[in-house]
Amino acid sequence: MTFDYDYFVIGAGSGGVRSSRIAAGHGARVAIAEEYRVGGTCVIRGCVPKKLLVIGAHFAEDLEDARRYGWTIDSKSFDWQTLRDNVLADVDRLNSAYQTTLDSHGVETFLDRATITGPNRVRVGDREVTAANILVATGATPSIPDIPGADLGISSNEMFHLDALPKRALIVGAGFIANEFAGILNQLGVEVTLAVRSGTLLRGWDNSLADRLVAISTEKGIQFRFHHEPASVEKLEDGSLRMHCTNGKALDADLILWAIGRTPNSRGLGLEELGLALKPNGAIPVDADSSTTLPWLHAVGDVTDRLQLTPIAIREGHALADRLFGGPVWRVDHDLVPAAVFSHPPLASVGLSESEARTRLGSVRVFTSDFRPMKNVLAGRNERALYKLVVDGATDQVVGAHMIGPDAPEILQALAIAVKAGLTKAQIDQTVALHPTMSEELVLMR
Ligand code: NAP
Repeated sequence: MTFDYDYFVIGAGSGGVRSSRIAAGHGARVAIAEEYRVGGTCVIRGCVPKKLLVIGAHFAEDLEDARRYGWTIDSKSFDWQTLRDNVLADVDRLNSAYQTTLDSHGVETFLDRATITGPNRVRVGDREVTAANILVATGATPSIPDIPGADLGISSNEMFHLDALPKRALIVGAGFIANEFAGILNQLGVEVTLAVRSGTLLRGWDNSLADRLVAISTEKGIQFRFHHEPASVEKLEDGSLRMHCTNGKALDADLILWAIGRTPNSRGLGLEELGLALKPNGAIPVDADSSTTLPWLHAVGDVTDRLQLTPIAIREGHALADRLFGGPVWRVDHDLVPAAVFSHPPLASVGLSESEARTRLGSVRVFTSDFRPMKNVLAGRNERALYKLVVDGATDQVVGAHMIGPDAPEILQALAIAVKAGLTKAQIDQTVALHPTMSEELVLMR
C-alpha cells in the first residue's frame, strides 16, 4: 500500500518537532499538524516564558541587594505590561524559529487539528490523508479540579497574558508550577498564598530541600496553608474570589491559579475508537521505544506521562524517528534524569532522595553542606543554600544529588554528569575546589 506520507506527526511541541525533523533528515516524507502554535507548551506557555518571568522577577531582590554593594538606586518601579509584552515577543520569535526549522527540513505543516480516523489514516482540517506511521505528540493540558466554581480560577496558560497583576494570588498545588509562580508573583509584589492539600511541598523531592524552600519562602512573605484542599470557589460582591476548602476553612484572593498537575491530551483524537486502552489519566501506553500495540501508531512526550519534561520528549521523539527511518537504533534512558524547580531560590535534583535511598539500599551515607552564599552574606540576606549528596554505603557510588540555592540548576547539570557516570564519592573528592564559588562545596563535603 502506498501512503501520502511516511510519517504524520500530531502536535508540534518539543517531541513532535524534533521527531519530524529527524525523520525528514533521514529522507522520510513528513507532515506535522498543530492546532495552536508551533513550539508547544515549553516554548509557547511553559519553560521558556516562565524562565524569562523568573529572571525578570529576580531583579526585585538584585536591585535591593545592589545597595549593599554600593549602588544607589534612586527609584525603582516595575511595569508588568513591559515584562509580559517583551516575553511574549520572544515567544513569537521562537515560534517563527520553530516554523523555519520545519520548513527548512521539508516538513509540511498543517495549522489545524488532526484526528485519527482509522489505521494509518488522519483527518486534518477538511482533508483525509494516510501515513505509514503516525506519531501522537500532543502533550498535556493543565488539570482543573472538578469542583463548583473551578472556572473562576485560571491555569498557568493564562498567567502569561494577565492584563495586570493581582493584589492577592492564591495558588493551589505544591509542585513545580505552584512554587515557580509563587516565587515570580512574590518578587513582583503580589501577596501570595499557597494552598497545599497535604503537609508538604514537592512530593518526591528530598524533604530537606522542600523544608528549606518553605522556610525561605515564608521569610520572603509567601504564606502556606497546609491541609487545605479545594472544595468550591465563589465570586464575592467586590469581585474577589473565595475558595472554600474541604476542612471548612475559606481563603480569599483576587486571582486563583490551579497548579495541580497536567493531564495528557489524548481525548478526542480517535484513539479510543481504535480500541487503544488509555491509562486512567488519559496517558497513551507505549513500550520502551515509544510505540503502542498498533504497529503504525507511536506516542512521545507528556501525552505518555512517563516524565513530563521537555528534554525527555525531545529524546523520545528523536530516538523514535531514528528507529523508524533508518538512523541508529537507540533507546531513551529514563533513569537519573535531572530536574529543577525555578522557585526563588531554585531547587535542582538528580537521582534518589535520602528517604528513597534508605528504603532501597542497605546502607546509605549522606553528606550535606548548609551555607550562606557569599553574595547573600554581603547583601545581609539571611538565606542559606543546602547541598546534599546521597551515597550508596556499599559501593561509595553517589546515587543522588540535591541542591537549593542560587543557580542550583546550573550547577546541578554538571554534577548530574558525574552521577550518571556512576562516580564514587571518593572520585568527586579527588577534584580540587574552584575557589571561591558555591559549587566548590560539592567537593568539600566530608
Ligand atoms: P506537579 O508538579 O505534579 O504538582 C501537582 C501538585 O498539585 C502537587 O502538589 C499535588 O499534591 C497537587 N494536587 C494534585 N491534585 C490536587 C487537587 N485536586 N487539589 C489540590 N492539590 C492537588 O504538577 P504541576 O506543578 O502542575 O506541573 C505539571 C508537570 O509539568 C510537572 O509534573 C512537571 O513534570 C512539569 N513541569 C516541569 C517544570 C520544570 O521542569 N521546571 C516546570 C513546570 C512544570 P500531592 O503532592 O498531594 O499529589
